Amino acid sequence: MSKASKAAPLYQLQQLDAEIERVLAEYQAITAALRDDTALRQAIQAFEAAQQTLKQQQHILQAAEQELSSLEGRLKSHSDRLYSGALANPRELGALQQEIGHLRQLRSAQEDRVLEAMSATEAAQLQVTASSRTRERLEEARQQEQGTLRKRQQQAEARLSTLRQQRQQQAESIDSSLVQRYEQIRKLRGSKAVVLAEGGMCQGCRVALTASDAQRLRTGSDVITCGNCGRMLYLP
Ligand SMILES: [Zn+2]
Repeated sequence: MSKASKAAPLYQLQQLDAEIERVLAEYQAITAALRDDTALRQAIQAFEAAQQTLKQQQHILQAAEQELSSLEGRLKSHSDRLYSGALANPRELGALQQEIGHLRQLRSAQEDRVLEAMSATEAAQLQVTASSRTRERLEEARQQEQGTLRKRQQQAEARLSTLRQQRQQQAESIDSSLVQRYEQIRKLRGSKAVVLAEGGMCQGCRVALTASDAQRLRTGSDVITCGNCGRMLYLP
């Protein structure tokens, strides 16, 4: 290694660290996506709510039909009495006819209620069918997605393990005090501890190097840090 590229191994270490960070973020995003079943849970809830509504509508319809049937029963017995000829008294006959007229009105209103309840039940049934399909579709999609995500998660894990090994080897090949300095600057300055010194400028803070720093960088035996931002300078 030439003296001018003393910071090169640190720069490579930093590239490995950046790649580790990138893959780690990807791994975490995959893990979060594997856990996130919000859409499916919502679809299951919607399906269960639709089933509940259908049940209620069916009860309402059943009750309305029972009431209609009871009205029809009463109408029939009144009509039977009317046409049996058993009643001869005109006042009683008149009262019976009036009662039959009243029951017919009630029956007509009840028929409307039954029709309404039937149509509401039908709508509820459609909702159950639709939400059941959505649920099935999401379940299928999630299964496929989980398969893909688990594969990607394994790949990311394998890549991370390789990168960490490479990183360890790289760090071990560098003077430990330099690695410590590198870590300290990373903590202070974020992910970039080693920056290029191109065009006589620190590319980390874009401040020009002093003439002596530039000279030391070209020929120097030590790792030079920027006088302004404190990052390590690398001249490729
Ligand atoms: Zn700088």
